[in-house]
Amino acid sequence: MSKIQMKTPLVEMDGDEMTRILWQWIKDILITPYVDLNVDYYDLGLVHRNETSDQVTLDSAEATKKYGVAVKCATITPNAARMPEYNLKEMWKSPNGTIRAILDGTVFRTPILVKGITPYIPTWTKPITIARHAYGDVYKNTEMQVKGGCKAELVVTDAEGKETRQLIHDFKTDGIIQGLHNIDQSIAGFARSCFSYGLDTKQDVWFATKDTISKKYDHRFKDIFAEIFEAEYKEKFEAAGIEYFYTLIDDAVARVIRSNGGYIWACKNYDGDVMSDMVSTAYGSLAMMTSVLVSPTGVYEYEAAHGTVQRHYYKHLKGEETSTNSVATIFAWSGALRKRGELDNIPELVRYADNLEQATIQTIEDGIMTGDLYLLSSLENKKKVNSKEFLEEINCRLAKLMG
Ligand code: NAD
Repeated sequence: MSKIQMKTPLVEMDGDEMTRILWQWIKDILITPYVDLNVDYYDLGLVHRNETSDQVTLDSAEATKKYGVAVKCATITPNAARMPEYNLKEMWKSPNGTIRAILDGTVFRTPILVKGITPYIPTWTKPITIARHAYGDVYKNTEMQVKGGCKAELVVTDAEGKETRQLIHDFKTDGIIQGLHNIDQSIAGFARSCFSYGLDTKQDVWFATKDTISKKYDHRFKDIFAEIFEAEYKEKFEAAGIEYFYTLIDDAVARVIRSNGGYIWACKNYDGDVMSDMVSTAYGSLAMMTSVLVSPTGVYEYEAAHGTVQRHYYKHLKGEETSTNSVATIFAWSGALRKRGELDNIPELVRYADNLEQATIQTIEDGIMTGDLYLLSSLENKKKVNSKEFLEEINCRLAKLMG
């Protein structure tokens, strides 16, 4: 069988710990036997980030801008404990944060559903994709404790030095204040990423704020979404048979709980922070959650939503067997290869990506799974396998699908 050829390089960002081990096995067992991989490789493992003073992270983000699609392995965000462990020159920033800042993107997180693992909300038969705005609001706030007798005002000074003032509160007793901001351009980028991803995946887009209470701030989000939708996406949505739906955040939460899933839920920064944890927990496992960063200009970076699974890595280093779930990392690869196939018009690559996902799901539905899923699955004939056996089982099914 001749291998599938690629046209444009896929940007490959290697990572750390147990996911770095899985990364190589996934390539060896499931990808390179079928695809003649054409990659622009960047080693984002902490050792190499430290050696390059994090330049490699910047380079990988620039390459992603250039080629349009990247696949990323989970990476360590250093904390105090990592400084001696890796003998670091500096406590390097989160690579995901750095890449997101360069691509100015929105992260979409989607659960992978399999039979035998029922969500805590059993009516959620289709995935709910959460899109979280990644700039501003309470995450870039200024806040103070104030004493009774203080008057707090909002003061805005324009370019000519003219001040506009508005009373926040006249404090009779002690209290607290907080200043928030956001930027039209960032909100517009968020809206475009959400609408583009909706078109891409043929799913409705829901958005919600509290504009009845926050008549300027949240209302601005609502207006920007509405303006961009009308001007740039309405006709494309109609042609694709999908909808944009706006409602109040409390109404959205109630509707989400009653829904069957199958849509993209665009959330303001704080709502997305809270709701993504609720949704991922309800679907059962962090290891079954994919994540894709989509820039407003249509650049894509695929990864798993989970971290480097440190505990399993230390077991692996001691020569012990692990049963680490590689599903989200496999789906990061299939997502990126499918997107490359679509952009470069390589139907065999798209078909391969579909088959890889189908073989992965089939393996779990046949009862063969890693330890984390074994604890959750209601299948009677289930069997726990180790990290490598799981990939080999997937390959048995993939080989059949590939004919
Ligand atoms: P983690 O996601 O690695 O693990 C959290 C928990 O979930 C652990 O109990 C782990 O055993 C379990 N788990 C996660 N993925 C699993 C899988 N695939 N199979 C089986 N069990 C799985 O997060 P953490 O422990 O908080 O962080 C470990 C490292 O990962 C840290 O250095 C952190 O900086 C990094 N991290 C990276 C990313 C990323 O690159 N996107 C995201 C989160 C954390």
